[in-house]
Amino acid sequence: MEIKTVGVVGAGQMGNGIAHVLALAGYEVLLNDVNQTALDDAMARIERNMDRQVKGGKITEDDQKAALDRIRTTLTLSDLGATDLVIEAATEREMVKQAIFEDLLPHLQPHTILTSNTSSISITRLASRTDRPEKFMGFHFMNPVPVMQLVELIRGIATDEPTYKACLRVVERLDKVASSAEDFPGFIVNRILMPMINEAVYTLYEGVGNVASIDSAMKLGTNHPMGPLELADFIGLDTCLAIMNVLHDGLADTKYRPCPLLTKYVEAGWLGRKTKRGFYDYRGEAPVPTR
Ligand code: NAD
Repeated sequence: MEIKTVGVVGAGQMGNGIAHVLALAGYEVLLNDVNQTALDDAMARIERNMDRQVKGGKITEDDQKAALDRIRTTLTLSDLGATDLVIEAATEREMVKQAIFEDLLPHLQPHTILTSNTSSISITRLASRTDRPEKFMGFHFMNPVPVMQLVELIRGIATDEPTYKACLRVVERLDKVASSAEDFPGFIVNRILMPMINEAVYTLYEGVGNVASIDSAMKLGTNHPMGPLELADFIGLDTCLAIMNVLHDGLADTKYRPCPLLTKYVEAGWLGRKTKRGFYDYRGEAPVPTR
């Protein structure tokens, strides 16, 4: 089956990037959110991000115009029933995602593939509450979507091969690379990345190094483009903590226990770049380490 139309649920940070890359690759995109402001902001952001790609010579003005014309927005979820593939990228709360799939089901065509961009919720569990667990997958983009090469494709226990192949073809048409993961907590990227970030926070907590020495050690010593604490601020410390809790609960191993210092930063509301303070303070001209 060839996928021509894609519905994207949630027009936040990830949803707008997903709509952006799909439209540039030639898919007709229907972008849905519960909030009109989120839809308007997403369209403005997509246009700005494409402007940057035009300036950088990555796409032409004609590509941009054609791509923007391929994106339609809607507040009505049932409009997505007509699409071949749905990528859910709404708020990371299981109740929210479950309600979206429940509301969508009566409107879907029999062949429509359902996917979720969730970072941490079980694909198998989300799939089991739909009428098509064999046509359900994890479609996990990285942030920022237009820049990052990887998409993790996660099979639930029931996902069938044609569904996997159809999603793989979409990833290839986006000019991205798929990494295939089984449905266990954190999949591949977060299973490896988050314990590393958490260990960096322990290294800070125990006074082995300060923020600057930990980040420069990992940048210059292991060739990482960003230090782990800088990266944690970029991702959001609340998100890092939530994913550590998913690993800890789901794998029942104390090696995934979140560092108390990470919890303390989240309790303080120091969530990283988005609140202008995390392991670095972003309120001035240049980021200043907070420890
Ligand atoms: P976000 O908060 O920026 O956006 C979420 C959007 O969903 C909001 O615009 C909100 O209005 C909308 N929404 C909420 N309920 C809805 C509903 N019932 N129907 C339609 N829209 C609804 O969040 P985000 O960072 O874009 O994350 C979205 C998903 O992507 C989450 O599952 C998250 O785990 C996953 N993800 C995030 C990142 C990241 O770095 N931010 C990376 C990979 C995956």
